[in-house]
Order: sequence, then structure tokens, then C-alpha cells
Amino acid sequence: MITLSESGVIEDIEQCNSLDNIQGLEFYSGILTPSMVNAHTHLELSHLGGVVPQQCGFSKFAQSISASRGIFSEQQTLNAMAFYDAKMWSEGIGVVGDISNGLSSFATKQCSKIKYHTFLELFGLKNCDRSRLDNLCEVATDLSLSNSLTVHSTYSLNCIDFDAVVQNECDGILSIHFMESEGELKLYDGRGELHSWYLECGMQIDFDKYSSPVDRVISTIPSSRRVLFIHNTMITESDIMSLKVHFGDNLTFVLCPRSNVHITGHKPPFELFLDSGCRIALGTDSMASNSSLSLIEELKLIESVPLATQLKWATEYGAEALGVGARYGRIEVGKRCGLVLLEGVDLRAMKLTSNTTSRRII
Ligand SMILES: [Zn+2]
Repeated sequence: MITLSESGVIEDIEQCNSLDNIQGLEFYSGILTPSMVNAHTHLELSHLGGVVPQQCGFSKFAQSISASRGIFSEQQTLNAMAFYDAKMWSEGIGVVGDISNGLSSFATKQCSKIKYHTFLELFGLKNCDRSRLDNLCEVATDLSLSNSLTVHSTYSLNCIDFDAVVQNECDGILSIHFMESEGELKLYDGRGELHSWYLECGMQIDFDKYSSPVDRVISTIPSSRRVLFIHNTMITESDIMSLKVHFGDNLTFVLCPRSNVHITGHKPPFELFLDSGCRIALGTDSMASNSSLSLIEELKLIESVPLATQLKWATEYGAEALGVGARYGRIEVGKRCGLVLLEGVDLRAMKLTSNTTSRRII
């Protein structure tokens, strides 16, 4: 039995043998969790559901996103953001790590019940406009939106721009799209689909002096920076260990399996992460590469991982990664973490079923 204050702070947790005659008691059947954490999405792309064809490959996906800019009205994008913000909340997501390239999502996030951390993301091999991003950080801070400046990935910025962000003395969290596709790895060998696309567009790169994305981040990002590595679809066991040795507890791997399946058809190597002892969190990525922003649907795709571990990935570890573990992530006395009910779970086998859903209680 969980006792809550008027404002939702957990005051007591106890096991009761007799629940009769307790005033104000609400009984639920299923699994109770704290608010879940969607550690990676792009709220500003919420209007792009169904726009990008499935399994078109990574370069085509990136090109489709660029081509779609400007064909939707401002009101359409605002409506889509409001819809998915409300839906995430009602389905039990209370904390979100959100990538922004502009300020279109700021008003939605300001009014939201969800606790957002906004990652203002720098990218561009040709026209990288750092001062625009610095201004966006200032605007977000003025609006009291938690934020930090980050780099998009290890393939979309040349050295001077990448290093200036990751070697900044500030302690803001970095969120980096990482080892998502084979093309990203081959780029460092001067081959593959990304390399061909860059050649076609006349884009020059200067970071192929590093042997791989892992070599680049370990060589340039100080071990004191907290980093979320997003996707990790192509990562190997030795890559995971190298990053763990360098970053220690500042390291989080964020997995977005449905997005990976949507774009490339591959899932991240869950078993490697399970054995690694590293902090793992989950994200949905954006509506451009997913059919919803539901974390329960992500969990259904990682059935090889025990349910108790899945739920830690979806709650506690995401909250730690985004620096909000003091309030969120665990059902504990003193926390105001929200309460979410999972229904339709096979409680004997302790597995989610295709009918499992989540809904917010508090
Ligand atoms: Zn993303």
C-alpha cells in the first residue's frame, strides 16, 4: 500500500494483510511503476508520423527528414507536439530528454506536466551555426527550461565545431546519436552510403583521422562529461568496454529499438548491454521513425531482457541519466515520482503481452 500526500509526495509504503476498512483506498490490479523516462525523442518532429517510408536505410531517412522541412504549417506542428506531449503524460511518461534544433517546441514544453531536458543540437558539415545554438540555449534558460548544448553525432560535425562543444568547461549533459548505421562506421574508412552521399553533396570531412566513432569520442570528450549515447545499433562488446573504462558512471547507453527497426530493420544488441553492467535507458526517437511515443511498445521489443530490468531501464536509469534521480525513477518515501499502472501483464511469467498498456494514476 502506498500513501500519498495531497501534492503526490510518497509518505509511506507498506505491505498490508488486511485492506478492509481503510478509508480512501484505491485498488489496482497490475504493476505499479514510477513515471517512465523517455530519454530520447524529438518533440519538434511530432508532425512527421508516416512521412518517411520504413526500412529505407539511414541516408534516405536523413534525406527524407530534410526534404519534409517547410511543407507543414506552424499550426500543424504545434498541434502535433501538444497531442504527443499529452499522450506521453497520460501513458505514464514523466521525464523526457528532447532534442531541439529550433525553438518551436519551447512553448509546449513550458506548459507541460512533463519534466523536459532540452538538448540543443549542433550539426552541419558545411554551414554550422554555433551562435544560433548559443542563442537558443539562452532563450531556453530564460524560459526556465532545463537545457544543454550537444553535438548531433560523430558524423555530422567537423573537428573544430565538435571539439568546441564537447570540450566546453560546462558540465551540461551531452546526447549523441551514435553507431546507428553501418554507413557511420564505414565513413571512417572512406567508404559506404554516407561517404557516397557526402561526396555527391561536396561535403568535406576532417575527422577520418580517427579510426572509428569510439576512437573519436574517447580522444576528444573529457571523461568528466556526462554523455548519453543514442541508438548503438552497431556497437560491439569491446566498444562498450572502451567507453565504460573512459566515462565510468558518466556513461549511459540509450536504446530506441522501434526506431532502429523502422529505419534499418536492425535491433540493438540487448544481450551485450545486459551483460555490460552499464547504465541503459530507453527512448522512442521521433514520430519520423516510430508509430507512437510509447515506452511500453519499446519494452515489448526487448523481451529477451527480464521484466524487472526492462522497467529499471524505463524508469530509474533514465532519471539518473538526465540528472533527475532525486525526484524521479523510484517509488520511495519522499519522492514525487508519479505512479503508473501497467495492465495486461502476464504476472505468472512476469512478461509483457501484446495487450499490455500503461496509464497514469498520479
Ligand atoms: Zn534521434
